[in-house]
Amino acid sequence: MENLNALKARTAEVVNLNRAASVLSWDQQTYMPPGGAEARAEQMATLRKYSHQVMTADETGRLLEAAEQEVAGLDEHNDEVGLVRIIRRDYDRATKLPSEHVVEFSKTTTIAHETWVKARAEDNFALFLPTLEKIYDLCRQRAEYLGYQDQLYDALLDQYEAGATTAEVEALFSNLREELVPFVAAILERADQVSGEPLHRAFPADKQAQFGLMAAQKMGYDMRRGRQDLTVHPFCITFSRDDVRITTRYDENFLSDGLFSTLHEAGHAIYEQGIPARYDGTPLGRGVSLGVHESQSRLWENIVGRSRGFWRRFYGELQQTFAGVLDDVSVEDFYRAINRVSASYIRVDADEVTYPLHIMLRFELEQDIFNGKLAVKDAPEAWNAKMEAYLGIRPRNNAEGVLQDVHWSSGIMGYFPTYAMGTMLSAQLYNAALADHSGIPAEIEQGEFSTLLQWMNTHVHAYGRKYMPADVVVKATGQPLQHHAYMNYLRAKFGEIYGL
Ligand code: ZN
Repeated sequence: MENLNALKARTAEVVNLNRAASVLSWDQQTYMPPGGAEARAEQMATLRKYSHQVMTADETGRLLEAAEQEVAGLDEHNDEVGLVRIIRRDYDRATKLPSEHVVEFSKTTTIAHETWVKARAEDNFALFLPTLEKIYDLCRQRAEYLGYQDQLYDALLDQYEAGATTAEVEALFSNLREELVPFVAAILERADQVSGEPLHRAFPADKQAQFGLMAAQKMGYDMRRGRQDLTVHPFCITFSRDDVRITTRYDENFLSDGLFSTLHEAGHAIYEQGIPARYDGTPLGRGVSLGVHESQSRLWENIVGRSRGFWRRFYGELQQTFAGVLDDVSVEDFYRAINRVSASYIRVDADEVTYPLHIMLRFELEQDIFNGKLAVKDAPEAWNAKMEAYLGIRPRNNAEGVLQDVHWSSGIMGYFPTYAMGTMLSAQLYNAALADHSGIPAEIEQGEFSTLLQWMNTHVHAYGRKYMPADVVVKATGQPLQHHAYMNYLRAKFGEIYGL
């Protein structure tokens, strides 16, 4: 295994360079003074350049071929076989993109970010339009470089959800849409049944941090191997499995934002901390895909964190933490408030029921643009029409509509579907865990999460990137990703809350 060992040493350098860039990125989004931006961009670009050079070097290709020979006779479930397989994937992808394309993509999206911020602030889509058209062209080029079998969009999707196809996502979404749209409509007719008022009171940030971190640790986020800091847009970032950090923000007049984003990011972190130590520092040592990652964040944030059982156990502590503020609110009214459904414009504020519709809208628009059915210039109107069709509301401006998300300015078309896939998967995984351990809900009501956590450790986290995402889903749940578990979960939970 001489060549394999040399290959491991090379890819460890790539991982180290990327993780060093992550430390710089974390610092940029938390503590760096604004003046540091220019130098930081140069430093990160330098690290990324070297990491790309090591990964795509002829020597890497030679070692990879030789290592493939060395592991040829081994069992397909062997770790070394899995490692070589994933390096082959990463290597092919990295070498398919010409460096001129990578540079142009990076420059265009860096400038696009500034343009998007300005266009959104001024509600001026025309200002962003030329840049956005260019980004769509670059994404088309990228897809051609990467290659695809059926649809161009497959190549883009594959960057975030390896092996997933557009046709699969279309089928999944169309099944969900058929049941979800009438369900949402029925709930919205009874919108006044639930009040969100208790969440809009005075909640000091330090107390929010104290409670949120307590809950995250109870769920399984290990603070000896993690920490939390403040940022504008919450995220989770990994420097090693023993240093996985989360960030959040607090709105002192709205409890949900900080509390549930903490649980969400902790869910991502629990996944990364749960990857086996022997994979750390190798290309196997992280979450397998964005969709599977999102299943873990959604599990702890929503299925556990917004459950009645969880709050039966923790509501008393929450009331004590914010002395006096919630004295007149029963646990039942609090449970209803955190699960209030509303037709809203902004995806990141959407509830569990309407959320997938926000994703479908973006997926359909991206599809139509790549298929030539929709011109980029007509995207605002198409957006608003779909919003009206799905949720019965029409954005009053483009900041509430087509300009709300950062993704298009970053050139990450093909990314959105993974949010809804992960959301659906969270319910499918939870059902599979329940089938093995029916006592999980009773444990949650006792503030005990270890059975659920261990199940996820064994059936999801343990694989790292060793298998394709769809294989992990089948291994863990016995079937491919489907919409049923999520739809059943929504019907049971929200049907009861809204008396349907
Ligand atoms: Zn997430």
